[in-house]
Amino acid sequence: MQPKYSFIIPIYNEEETLLELYRRVSAIADRMDDLVEIILINDGSQDQSLKIIREFHQQDQRVCYLSFARNFGHQIAVTAGLNFVRGQVIVVLDADLQDPPELIPDMVEKWRQGYQVVYAQRIKRRKESWFKRFTAYSFYRILKYLAEVDIPTDTGDFCLMDRQVVDVLNSMPECNRYIRGLRSWVGFQQTAIRFERDSRFAGEVKYTFGKSLGLAVNSLVSFSKVPLRLSTYIGLLSAALALFMSVLVLYWRLTEPDSPLTGFATIAMAIFFLGSVQLISIGILGEYIGRIYEEVKGRPLYTLAEVGGFDSHLKFYKNQR
Ligand code: UDP
Ligand code: MG
Repeated sequence: MQPKYSFIIPIYNEEETLLELYRRVSAIADRMDDLVEIILINDGSQDQSLKIIREFHQQDQRVCYLSFARNFGHQIAVTAGLNFVRGQVIVVLDADLQDPPELIPDMVEKWRQGYQVVYAQRIKRRKESWFKRFTAYSFYRILKYLAEVDIPTDTGDFCLMDRQVVDVLNSMPECNRYIRGLRSWVGFQQTAIRFERDSRFAGEVKYTFGKSLGLAVNSLVSFSKVPLRLSTYIGLLSAALALFMSVLVLYWRLTEPDSPLTGFATIAMAIFFLGSVQLISIGILGEYIGRIYEEVKGRPLYTLAEVGGFDSHLKFYKNQR
């Protein structure tokens, strides 16, 4: 029994939303023209999520699940789902129903027209704090400006991908995974489908500010060398400034030998300025070297504690890396 459609849903402490999620997603699955598998990935939840997922799996043979041994993060959870999918058409969506499953048939329609990637683009975010909206808005614009691949603005991980694309993503070994970026990087025929993003069905946001910031830094470092170059530019700028200041000091020394400006203050300012430029540059270097270190270690992306419904696939996981 080979499913044609695979839905991938990462889950971290979503006990309040799971029932409603299942209701809406399975309603869509019932309407599809072929077999569907629903892959739920438990990303080390501490609440009852795993128990509920197991029950879904027992009641409904379309539901398979992977359960991580700890919290590895949203991007890794999606990656695990992609590793295990069996369908031809793969849809990734959030568990909190901010990505309406009702959009899936429209996405499939685009796929039938020949697109291999159909990503959902938010035209509006309902009831999210102004801080989240503002940071997200500016982040996507900065990323678009700096990134070497064209990553569309205001798109999340909610998307449909063809098997071909998923095979390419699965063959990419990098462990700092920014899936939206990788998805743009692969190419193929891509198109957007626009939607208004609902607010969370229940529960708290699982992406804390720290996690979002981590993702933002990761995406910039993974897809842009501009920050590295930036430190060179700042260095050049400060060198020019230092040159200008020394000319100024020389001028003052000759014309106004008693001016206090030529003394301590000038020196202190120059030291602080250059010191901070160096520290910033070292920090930027550190970000990149840290990534290299992570990649070189070549650790597996996740550890599975439990799997339901993929017996033939366990082999794949064991052979990974
Ligand atoms: N999530 C996850 N691991 C995490 C954090 C979040 O699998 O460490 C899942 C979460 O359960 C949800 C999705 O990722 O299905 C998006 O999370 P959230 O709604 O908190 O983020 P936002 O909507 O702000 O992007
Ligand atoms: Mg959400």
